[in-house]
Amino acid sequence: MPVPRNIAWEANSPMSRFWSAVVHGLTPYVPGEQPKLTNLVKLNTNENPYGPSPKALEAMRAEVGDSLRLYPDPNADRLKSAIADYHGVKPAQVFVGNGSDEVLAHTFQALLKHEAPLLFPDVTYSFYPVYCGLYGVDYRTVPLTERFEIRVEDYMVPNGGIIFPNPNAPTGRLLPLADIERLLQANAGSVVVVDEAYIDFGGESAVALVDRFPQLLVIHTLSKSRSLAGLRVGYAIGHPDLIDALNRVKDSFNSYPLDRFAIAGAAAAMEDRAYFDETCRKVVATRGRLVAELETLGFEVLPSGANFIFARHALHDGAELTAKLRERSIIVRHFKNPARIAPFLRITIGTNSECDALVAALKEILPA
Ligand SMILES: *Cc1c(COP(=O)(O)O)cnc(C)c1O
Repeated sequence: MPVPRNIAWEANSPMSRFWSAVVHGLTPYVPGEQPKLTNLVKLNTNENPYGPSPKALEAMRAEVGDSLRLYPDPNADRLKSAIADYHGVKPAQVFVGNGSDEVLAHTFQALLKHEAPLLFPDVTYSFYPVYCGLYGVDYRTVPLTERFEIRVEDYMVPNGGIIFPNPNAPTGRLLPLADIERLLQANAGSVVVVDEAYIDFGGESAVALVDRFPQLLVIHTLSKSRSLAGLRVGYAIGHPDLIDALNRVKDSFNSYPLDRFAIAGAAAAMEDRAYFDETCRKVVATRGRLVAELETLGFEVLPSGANFIFARHALHDGAELTAKLRERSIIVRHFKNPARIAPFLRITIGTNSECDALVAALKEILPA
């Protein structure tokens, strides 16, 4: 459910009379905190602890120059072909945007706004209901199981589209590709969007299914597994007719969403397979280590296919632990809503030494 909008702010803001009715009705997304302090162990927004590929940095440096007076390629063809090569698809099956949040926004407007309600899990990426509010998309949430799993049978009902992250956020739980295939078979008449922001940390991508299921759109970001959250690049892969719908919205909104640095840096990052494989492998190894340590401390950790884990302690509330970690300069994410996830902490996988600092702080906080 969306967080309640800030009525007090609205009432206290005399100039809000200039706001459009749409703006009055918005409930914006609240991003994880980006603290200005240094020396924090920042494990709250699922950034990659390793830097971007050195080849991506080099490609961006090469863009600093006189050519910045010229607009970038509105179609970002160089990047689309790097993405198409990586995934073994055609460039016409690729759409690129200014972060996957923008790709998602266009997707809601272009492909998910229909008569019947859009379906997504009750515990999921909290931007989805925000886009529904912005674009007037009717939606219905589908409860996850007790163990926070997506049950595909629950999505075999009339609907105007389906969207979920895989692995899901903030639970980290991965839905096997065979289940996604069953969901697609049962939903030939609606667009199914799989938001694979975290798929590179151990899951199997649904891109393998796009040629068989023309209603499938798979969305990726370079923010997590490619360490480029600061560059803002995301993309979608699907049937050229779905991509065409996204292009129609994009070209009615902003013809140049990706600047010259983003096109060059993201293309080089997609091409640097060795660096990507190595950093993903390190994150997955640290995740295994951290899960084992937290379990020793009495945490229950949901199985994670992501670069974060979702964990609760039997005796300590999520808000309390988040506050006590913060006093020790360790920032993790806590969600108050819905109530059933309030006991949990969402912890980004950092370097081994960042995770060691977290474990050491928890040992201080939790009585032996
Ligand atoms: C991080 C995240 C995104 C957004 O990624 P950007 O490309 O940085 O906008 C999208 N979906 C999910 C589920 C995410 O966790």
